[in-house]
Amino acid sequence: MECPLEMGGRPEILLEPGAERHAAECARCRDWLRNLETTRQALDLWQPEPVRPGFDRALWQRIEAEEARRWWRPWRPLAPALAAAAVLVGAVILSSGPEPRPLAEFAEIEQIEQTLSDVQMLRDLGLTQPL
Ligand SMILES: [Zn+2]
Repeated sequence: MECPLEMGGRPEILLEPGAERHAAECARCRDWLRNLETTRQALDLWQPEPVRPGFDRALWQRIEAEEARRWWRPWRPLAPALAAAAVLVGAVILSSGPEPRPLAEFAEIEQIEQTLSDVQMLRDLGLTQPL
């Protein structure tokens, strides 16, 4: 039998019949079984304290107070929809980009280009004096 503790397997295999031989040869498994037995004995000796009178009432009061503090709980089913709406609003804001340039600016650029083209044509025709 391979050591279940060294193989990272299930140590509860040590509780199955036939595992005693391995535990007799393996110190690590023997310690694991000894610790388990010690824990069992301690649990057998443990006596829980009796429940105080009024414990249930006090517990329910605390639970109700906690429930009242969580005012957002009724809104909880809407959380995915609110998150999706927030993402959508963010995407719209990010995709809007800078303001579009006014058409007048484009018209001005076209006018300048036309003027430069006219000047070039006049130069090509020799109708202007060189600067
Ligand atoms: Zn072992």
